[in-house]
This record gives sequence, C-alpha cells and structure tokens, in this order.
Amino acid sequence: MVVRVRFAPSPTGYLHLGGARTALFNYLFAKAENGVFILRIEDTDKERSRREFEEDIIDSLNWLGLFWDEGPIRQSERIDLYEKIIKELIDKDLAYYCFCSKEELELRKQEQLTRGEVPRYSGTCRNLDKQTVLKRKEKENYVIRLKVPEKIITFKDFLRGEIKFDFRQSGDFVIAKKEKEPLYVLANTVDDHYQGITHVIRGEEFILTTPKQLLIYQYLDWQPPIFVHLPLVLGQDRSKLSKRHGAKSINEYRQEGYLPEAILNFVALLGWHPAGDREIISLEEMIKEFKLEKLNKSPTIFNISKLNYFNRHYLKTKKPEELIDLLDFSTYINNYSYEKILKIIELGKERATTLNDILPSVEFFFKDFDYSAEMLIWKNTSREKIKNNLEEIKKEFAKIKEEDFRAEKIKEILDRLSGNNKGEYFWPLRVALSGKEASPPPFDLAEVFGKEKTIDLINKAIEKL
Ligand code: GLU
Repeated sequence: MVVRVRFAPSPTGYLHLGGARTALFNYLFAKAENGVFILRIEDTDKERSRREFEEDIIDSLNWLGLFWDEGPIRQSERIDLYEKIIKELIDKDLAYYCFCSKEELELRKQEQLTRGEVPRYSGTCRNLDKQTVLKRKEKENYVIRLKVPEKIITFKDFLRGEIKFDFRQSGDFVIAKKEKEPLYVLANTVDDHYQGITHVIRGEEFILTTPKQLLIYQYLDWQPPIFVHLPLVLGQDRSKLSKRHGAKSINEYRQEGYLPEAILNFVALLGWHPAGDREIISLEEMIKEFKLEKLNKSPTIFNISKLNYFNRHYLKTKKPEELIDLLDFSTYINNYSYEKILKIIELGKERATTLNDILPSVEFFFKDFDYSAEMLIWKNTSREKIKNNLEEIKKEFAKIKEEDFRAEKIKEILDRLSGNNKGEYFWPLRVALSGKEASPPPFDLAEVFGKEKTIDLINKAIEKL
C-alpha cells in the first residue's frame, strides 16, 4: 500500500505554527514511507475563504520547504463531485432536506436545555414525504442533514485507541447548506476517499468529527483511512494557544528574521521527539527518524523561547555567503568589498537571535556614531593613561603595512602592549571603533575598518580625552 497523506487547510486565515506542524508531520510521514503528500485547499466556506490566505499558506509551505507531490487541489473546483454524493445519500434515504428555520431550531434547543437534555436536532424534517419536500424546496430555505443511528459507536484513533461516541447526543447533523454547498464534514470525507488518503493526520480539535465522517464512509460503503489526531498545543498557562503566548503566523516569523530550519525544528518537537535527548534536528534527519508511533498524545506546551534558541543555533551554522541575500542592506549603504561585507555578517551573526538583529548590531560599520569621553575609561584607569594607551596603539598600528592589517596581527600587538592589563587597551579601542560597550572584539573591528579609518577613529577618541 502506498501511503497517501494530505495537508488540508481552510484558507480562512494565515498559516500558523499549529498548521505548519500538521503539514510537517504529514510531510515527514509521506517521505519516511516513500508515500505521496497532497496539498488540498478546503475553500468551500465562501464567506470566510480568501485568496490572500491561500497564497499565504502556499508561500509559507514553500518557504519552509514542505513541498507537496500533488495539488494544490481546490475544493471549490470539485463542487460537482460533492453534489453527486449528496444526491446519492438523499436517494438512499440516508440524508434529507431540513426546512427548520434558525428561530425554530433555537427555540427547540432552549426547550431541550430547560429539560436538562443535551441539545440536538429533534428530527422534525426526518420523515417528510417526497411531495412535501419538492413543494417546500421551491419556496423555502433548507439544509441537508445526515440520518444518524440511535446508538453509541466506537472508533479507533491511531494514538489514543478506542473512542466512544454517542450519536444519540449528536442528532442528525448538517452535511450541506445546499446541494452545491457542502460543509467541511462532507467535502473533506469525499476528498479523502477519492484522493486515496490512507492516513488522516490532523489536529485533536477534529477528533469528534471523525465518527461523523466514519458514518459517511459506512453509508457509502467506502474503506476509511487510519485516523491520527495530533496532540493539542497549549500556552504555558495551559490555555488554548493564542497570540498572547507569542504564537504568530509563519509569515510574521519570517518577517521578524526567523529561519525556516528553526521553525521546522521548533514545530517538530511539539508532539514528537527524536531518539535520545537530541533537540537539534534537520529536516533530512527528521525524515529518517519519523515514526507515527512516536507521536505524543498528551497536550504539548508551547515555549517561544525555544524558537529563539533554535534560531540562534541555525544562524550560527549559516555561512555569511548564505545569509547575504537574506539581509536588507537598504539603509546600510557602503563601499565595503564583498569580502568585508562577509566578515561584517560573520561578526554580526555571533550575537544575533534573528536575521534582523545582524546588521543593527554592527551598525557602526555603516553609520557615523558618537559616545562620551567617559565611556572610553576602563574601570579606575585615569583619563591620561587611556589617552596614552590609545596613542601607543596608534603608533604601533601606523607601523603595520596596509595588507598586513589583519585581526590576528592586530590582536598580537594589543596583547603585547597590554600584558596583564588587557582592559586598559582593548576597552578604549572597542569604544573608539564601535561607540558601544558590547561589540565584536576590537581587533576584528579594526580589520574591517582598515588601517586608515581605524587610525582616524582612534584620533577622534584621543581628541575627546
Ligand atoms: N480544513 C480543515 C482545517 O482547516 C482540515 C481538517 C482535516 O485535516 O481533516 O484544518
């Protein structure tokens, strides 16, 4: 059997971390099993579906590198198929037209609640004769409901085992607003069947839809897929995940300078864990290790600081050559050579959490900066001493040939001059070259600035003292 799985988002919002996780696990399972990964856009809800969201979902999946083998298949383009199935269910007397108005339904619901019953459709239109239906259809609004049996059924979730569901409490449920307006529960089932889906891997919030879908399979004599419901993702306060917990759309994370590798690594661990205590794992390694049996079933807690940790890690592993095109240099106009720009990126990424931190942290290479004379003073050292030290540094630098003005050589000189009093030399030079108290090492800064500019900046510092 060839494994066929799908990611089936409704384009009613942007792709979020939870959706990315569902997509990732489907993708991993398909790849691990040499199967097929399908992208299906469930856009039957005309009011809430928007092209903009569909584009966002597709862009985000591409950016994450979760490429699909078939699709995108749009449900809005398959309405005829759903209509055929709806009619078949009606013809077989397994579904029926319901003319009850919203007001009537609400009234009944209130009555049931007062009697202490679980509200459910009371079956008013269940047995209308054909003639009545035909007549009323012409003038009245209607929906289409599936007839449910008066019994408890059990079904199997791959991770959770047997689950009981009481159809007596659900009542006949709506499968379509009109013949050409199927609801999710129906369109999703029809597609899973016709697209040969072998495993439905989706969020736990759909678990109670499963028995309803299984009933449709049974009525149509179809073989159902295996259902795997992924654990809920909760905020640290154990409440449903929301913006408040720092959960944003994938595209927002992208704008904020997160790397796709970090997002994938982060969402992979929301409900799954590779062998051992390993946390850092690439997409290729995930494919090798992925097993459905290893998914958790208990809720997983979302900890956004972990994402920062992964992002710092993946930034460190990237070469400046790979990062250069991902950075926005528009406000950092300069005449540095390509090699120097690479070096600047190398220095900037060391302290960065996101791509967006890189250039601001080495802004002094691009923009004039200022600082106070006091900043140049190392601890209790006198002003005079600092001034002398900078003079000494300058004299030594002046002796170096332009082409030898390299970090190693510069460090050697600073080490020699400072002996045991490193701070008295390194500190004022750092401030002179960056205007900051925290920066990459001053010998690296000096190399990028080059001899002439470095000496200029030292002179500026000496003047302040
Ligand atoms: N369209 C549903 C959603 O938006 C898909 C649920 C499923 O995977 O069955 O999440």
